[in-house]
Amino acid sequence: MDQQDNKIAVVGAGLVGAACACMLSRHGFAVDLFELRSDLRLSSKLSVGRSINLALSARGLHTLRLLGVADEILERHAIPMYARMIHNVDGRTEPIPYGASGQCIYSVGRKYLLELLLFRAERDDNVRLHFDHKLLRARFHQGSLEFSTPDRDAVTKSGYRAIIGCDGVFSRVRQDVMRCGRFDFEQKYIDHGYIELCIPAKDNEFQMAVNFLHIWPRGEFMMIALPNQDKSYTVTLFMPFEKFEALTTAEKILKFFETHFPDSIPLIGRESLIQTLTTVEVSSLASVKCSPYHVGGRGLLLGDAAHAMVPFYGQGMNCGFEDVSILDELFTALGTSDLEKPFETFSEVRREDAHAIVELALYNYIEMRHLVNSVWFRLRKKFDSSLHWMFPKFWVPLYTSVTFSRMKYSECISNRAWQDKVLRNSLRSIGLLALGVSLAYAASRMRINVRLH
Ligand code: FAD
Repeated sequence: MDQQDNKIAVVGAGLVGAACACMLSRHGFAVDLFELRSDLRLSSKLSVGRSINLALSARGLHTLRLLGVADEILERHAIPMYARMIHNVDGRTEPIPYGASGQCIYSVGRKYLLELLLFRAERDDNVRLHFDHKLLRARFHQGSLEFSTPDRDAVTKSGYRAIIGCDGVFSRVRQDVMRCGRFDFEQKYIDHGYIELCIPAKDNEFQMAVNFLHIWPRGEFMMIALPNQDKSYTVTLFMPFEKFEALTTAEKILKFFETHFPDSIPLIGRESLIQTLTTVEVSSLASVKCSPYHVGGRGLLLGDAAHAMVPFYGQGMNCGFEDVSILDELFTALGTSDLEKPFETFSEVRREDAHAIVELALYNYIEMRHLVNSVWFRLRKKFDSSLHWMFPKFWVPLYTSVTFSRMKYSECISNRAWQDKVLRNSLRSIGLLALGVSLAYAASRMRINVRLH
């Protein structure tokens, strides 16, 4: 096929769009990658409201390996985090490992990762980047798109075999998929928002133990911190909106932190704490589920545009990257001469898994802010780790399957369901056994007593 007839438009040069462009180029497509914002490689800032660093794990790494950039990230830019470090109110800290010894997730800067993928995309002659292009309308069947640019209200680009929407949680492409009919869509906000704070480096050193994801679980709310390359920590406070709204003065902010996060005050600094909490707007968190992801062989949604999730499993980007590797596998298996087959199969195989991780991410918020403090949670973790150590293939704990494997997300859930059942039945059997032993003991005592009388 002539390159001109093999053009694909990708909308959104975020992490997933950039990775998708690189993957498409591997399959010989000519890719136009359109992005609303200016080229972030020319700016020192990252736009407000996006997390500064992200936890990268197995699924994301798999795709980065496929694109040939994983080694550079791991060797030069990723900070391994082997365990959660729990901060109690009294200042005591305690590590809870993520997986088996040596298993870790990585803290990676969003800006660095995106720049690397954009440079990688640009290295391919097949990919052209178009910044400052805001999508207004996608017409799948005509293969055309309408954009506004800084100097023109409406620019039409046409001649595309397919249009792929990687334009994030509030996807414009998705709105046009919706117009095509028979499309299910659900968007849910949670009652909690978040604000990012910073623990700066001190004397060019980290102020807390590195190689951990620090968590201050406080039941109804929590704070977490991930290490950055410059030895600072990005701290995120997740809390119900009404709690944020109650922090109206410097005194209230300090009182709140002294009560719930006293050890963090000297690390963040009073001034910075007050400044951030009085000036920065609280960001909201939403989940999106939809189906199908494709419009014949002419349109497809990937990443947050297809399945946005709350950030508590650290899977949003990883799952979006996994979309890219799954599409890559489908192109390899089914070919690219007819795009309908791989796109349709993508919708079929991905729906259940994307919905599963959206739900798991919501569940993990409860676990992170609440359960990590409970005795039952810790016992369960120990039990899971021991069984996993003894039977690594047979007993894979939920967190391990989601984070350190590429097991389908829906299977991670069903796997956990049978493990829960086994555990419940075992506890019941142990309970029955204990009851039996007690009854036998009581009966024998009664017999002795009767004989004595
Ligand atoms: P985005 O990153 O949102 O990119 C979409 C792009 O499309 C943007 O560049 C945008 O400018 C562009 N765009 C939008 N509209 C248009 C338009 N009309 N025309 C042209 N371009 C447009 N995930 C993890 O895996 N690990 C983590 O640790 C993690 N932590 C997180 C912490 C927080 C606080 C949050 C909010 C999210 C976190 N995530 C994490 C999720 C992760 O950020 C997202 O899943 C990921 O950014 C999705 O990438 P994307 O490319 O699909 O969308």
